[in-house]
Amino acid sequence: MQFIDLKTQYQKIDALIQQRINAVLEHGKFIMGPEVAELETRLEEYTGAAYCINVASGTDALLIAMMALDIKPGDEVITTPFSFISTAETIVLLGAKPVFVDIQEDTYNLDPTLLEQAITPKTKAIMPVSLYGQCADFDTINQIAESHGIPVIEDAAQSFGATYAGKKSCNLSTIGCTSFFPSKPFGAYGDGGACFTNNEELATRMKHIRVHGQDKRYHHYITGVNGRLDTIQAAILLAKMELFPEEVEARKRIGARYSQLISENTTEVGVPLIAEGNTSVYAQYTIRVKERDKLIEKLKQNDIPTAIHYPIPLHKQPAITSLQSSYSLPIAENCSDHVMSLPMYPYLEETTQDYIVESVCKALS
Ligand SMILES: *Cc1c(COP(=O)(O)O)cnc(C)c1O
Repeated sequence: MQFIDLKTQYQKIDALIQQRINAVLEHGKFIMGPEVAELETRLEEYTGAAYCINVASGTDALLIAMMALDIKPGDEVITTPFSFISTAETIVLLGAKPVFVDIQEDTYNLDPTLLEQAITPKTKAIMPVSLYGQCADFDTINQIAESHGIPVIEDAAQSFGATYAGKKSCNLSTIGCTSFFPSKPFGAYGDGGACFTNNEELATRMKHIRVHGQDKRYHHYITGVNGRLDTIQAAILLAKMELFPEEVEARKRIGARYSQLISENTTEVGVPLIAEGNTSVYAQYTIRVKERDKLIEKLKQNDIPTAIHYPIPLHKQPAITSLQSSYSLPIAENCSDHVMSLPMYPYLEETTQDYIVESVCKALS
């Protein structure tokens, strides 16, 4: 069994993907070819954001967003300790300091009730993560941020396609950043990412930062990076866009079915809570159990792969921790010890799902 099966998806659109790749090979514009702009238009339509800037990865999206907001050494950026390393790594790369705020135990996202007390005169951005495919509580976060005049960046690497109060993830804050890493809900066949905003000035800055801070040929008014999305990856994503809306529906259906089956059959497993007004794309289907290692081992014996997202909270990572005063983030630390993810992808068959749930329940009984 596979944790994420990308092959079934490929078989559904192989002809279209090959046609799209061949078109790129024929026109030969491998860097910033027409597919990049075409994809940006499609993603603007999909998310409702006025501007999409495709970039080389989700990590670059976060970096470019913060560079556009002029995050500098000495600045503070408030974020969650319960995420992939990129979230904190990009803050550190810019010489700024990640300030961690603990998470909500039920949604695993940044707890907005702890936000106000973390804000200082040095706070230059708030960067919540929409973890596992569910958006953080943006209405509350935006309100607090606005009252202090602080921009908000959504790390939407796992939540492209999700909605919050009827609005699409990536279009919920000052800048939204996503990833097209192959295993993400909207994945390419290599690295990729995007920044979204409704602010024209920020959009222009991000477009320039993506190409070495260049506004005119060989004129560089701002420090930038080489952060472009390959034309071939844009072409692949355009083909995959044909399937994406139905894949989002399948993800919602499978996630809800997992939760229902598990809840009906055991009380030993904490299933993900989807907050009212939210829809999740279940980038991960993540459960919480008392004795995680035992369950992982038993599932492995039944050929069921699992993963841990994430075993070490960011404030405990050696690359980050040296910068920190002593943090106590009990909820994130507790979740890191008890969460584990089950196989999840849009083409996960019901019979496979039943087998996984049965194995989980049997292992815990
Ligand atoms: C995957 C991920 C990233 C980084 O995306 P890449 O495309 O791999 O650079 C950033 N933040 C979160 C929460 C992620 O899951």
